[in-house]
Amino acid sequence: MGGAAGLVLGTPVRGLAQAPAQPALAVADMERLSDDLFLVRLPGEANVVAQTTADGVLLVDGASAGASTALLNAVAALPGAGPVQTIFNTHWHPEQTGSNEQLGKAGRAIIAHENTRLWLTTDVTWPWDGRRFKRLPAPAQPNKTFYTTGALNSGVRYGHIPDAAHTDGDMYVYFPKQNVLAVGDVVSGQGWPVVDWPTGGWIGGIVGGLQRVQTLANEETRIVPARGPVLGLADIKAQAEMYRTIYDRLSQLLNKGRGPGEAVAAAPTKEFDAKMGAPDEFVRRSFESLWAYLSPDA
Ligand SMILES: [Zn+2]
Repeated sequence: MGGAAGLVLGTPVRGLAQAPAQPALAVADMERLSDDLFLVRLPGEANVVAQTTADGVLLVDGASAGASTALLNAVAALPGAGPVQTIFNTHWHPEQTGSNEQLGKAGRAIIAHENTRLWLTTDVTWPWDGRRFKRLPAPAQPNKTFYTTGALNSGVRYGHIPDAAHTDGDMYVYFPKQNVLAVGDVVSGQGWPVVDWPTGGWIGGIVGGLQRVQTLANEETRIVPARGPVLGLADIKAQAEMYRTIYDRLSQLLNKGRGPGEAVAAAPTKEFDAKMGAPDEFVRRSFESLWAYLSPDA
């Protein structure tokens, strides 16, 4: 987990002497991936990748709204950092899109898959816990969208991960020179993932997404998930196998006419729970996602 220089937020911001008193200092953990590429972690927030270039900073994801200022201060303190010019949203979740409003109002490019933009223009409610996500104001919505793939002048490539591993707008961002692949929540580096089936994610998509990531990476690629440590190709292969096993078991239960409660009781993840954590929520959502995808009248 990084462990390199922790940056004290706020210090190098111009005009700080005139700024109002800052709240208690949060410390960002900064892991240097190459000369110009950094993994920035704030406590409780999803991973952010920051590239410093002569034309300004490129971000992959932007933390939640409450941490946006802390994130942008941490990024401003990176060696060689200029203003943030571009941000990618790997999907629509608030843990990724919390800096959109600040950056969008400043006229910066917000790049996302078109489906991500669409989810951010509507209110979403998760049926299992009633959690409501309000649409973002217009300036915070992605202003540069794509359907399949794209590239920046710098050589950075990006593209849709159409398997719906997490949502139907999942995307990767690949830095070829540094051989770093950011994949958002398509890969969970820490515990069981959220299966957000109301916006398209499903357990079969988790398997498909992990297989697709293997086609985008090589043995040396460092793969950055939205949560947890940097991973390698071997980690992705092991995860693909695990989720394939779980997918097969849940599909069999579905074919036998079982329901989500029976799926949880069948303990389809039992040999993985010691490593991955309490599975009930994940199993229930995964099973519901099969209904959403495989039931003819869903
Ligand atoms: Zn997410």
